[in-house]
Amino acid sequence: MNVKRAYKFRFYPTNDQKDILAQTFGCARFAYNYMLKARTDAYYNEQKRMGYHETSALLTVLKKQSEFNWLNNVSSVPVQQALRHLQTAFSNFFAKRNKYPTYKSKFDKQAAEYTASAFRFENGILTLAKMKAPLVITWSRTLPKAANLTTVTVSKDFAGRYFVSLLCDDTVSAKTTVAASIGVDLGLTNFAVTSNGSKYQSPQALRNNLEKLALLQQRLSKKKKGSSNRNKARLKVAKLHAKIKDIRKDFLHKLSTKLINENQVIAVESLAVSNMLKNRKLAKSISDASWSEFVRQLEYKAKWYGRTLIGIDKWYPSSKRCNACGYTLSTLSLNTRTWMCPDCGLNHDRDLNAAKNILTAGLAGLAFGENVSPVCI
Ligand SMILES: [Zn+2]
Repeated sequence: MNVKRAYKFRFYPTNDQKDILAQTFGCARFAYNYMLKARTDAYYNEQKRMGYHETSALLTVLKKQSEFNWLNNVSSVPVQQALRHLQTAFSNFFAKRNKYPTYKSKFDKQAAEYTASAFRFENGILTLAKMKAPLVITWSRTLPKAANLTTVTVSKDFAGRYFVSLLCDDTVSAKTTVAASIGVDLGLTNFAVTSNGSKYQSPQALRNNLEKLALLQQRLSKKKKGSSNRNKARLKVAKLHAKIKDIRKDFLHKLSTKLINENQVIAVESLAVSNMLKNRKLAKSISDASWSEFVRQLEYKAKWYGRTLIGIDKWYPSSKRCNACGYTLSTLSLNTRTWMCPDCGLNHDRDLNAAKNILTAGLAGLAFGENVSPVCI
């Protein structure tokens, strides 16, 4: 199966490259924000919808004006790609997958995307448009020999680290079929509980660092605006953020790979993440738990390796229903961890019972095409 696969590496730009990248990030961000405003204004003032092609035409006009002449100093490709990203953000908004696009700030992560016409990659040496020297990349893993590099994304995180993400055309083959199936309940007490009785907590290091982060953020908020102490505190927060992100990603990848390796069918509850995020008390734990990223990984790994991932409708009463006899409680509060079925007398661990129900519903759906919907978060 042909797939797109991204490989991310750290790199160390020269001062010249830093300058060029800073300009490129700035131009891409400007184009994104300018066109976001143009599209918003067109809609609110004239009830007109501007699409990618209109923004592209407008960019051409801008580039000819002396006021915006500086847009021509950088490779045109990343600037054009910013308009494509804006288009994707609008598509996601119209499909109700995401909120209305927001302006990009120079205090966020900076990124620029180069497609094939704007880079050269030969014998493991990568050179970007407008740069004389190739990038000095730390190759922490080897690219597969057959991989064909199609897109290069350069980014700089708030901690000042530079990364290059290489999107390659690659081939993956299905794994040998296995007999096992599994239901996965994603929750707050445990990150995941599976129908075979395993419980997975997010790593202790992640939880410790999250506590540390709260402390650092509190300290940062007390520093005087514009002071050098505030800048130092902000850098500390950014560095810890980056570390937390790495730990979390590693944890999610290991768990999703394990579940995919060991099971032919994986059933998981589709989560109304965006709805739950509106509940502010739950919000922090949920965003920390990264459920939607986890399901995204399961989804593409299942596709790659010939496994079946089933999303169970979020309204399915997986927690309240007895997995042994099917009796369904009328209510079950969020903090009740165990309960006894009034009908058959079995004692249930809340999450394990839910995981078993998710598996049953998933397998039933596979057989009868009912009660399940494709995972869509
Ligand atoms: Zn029962």
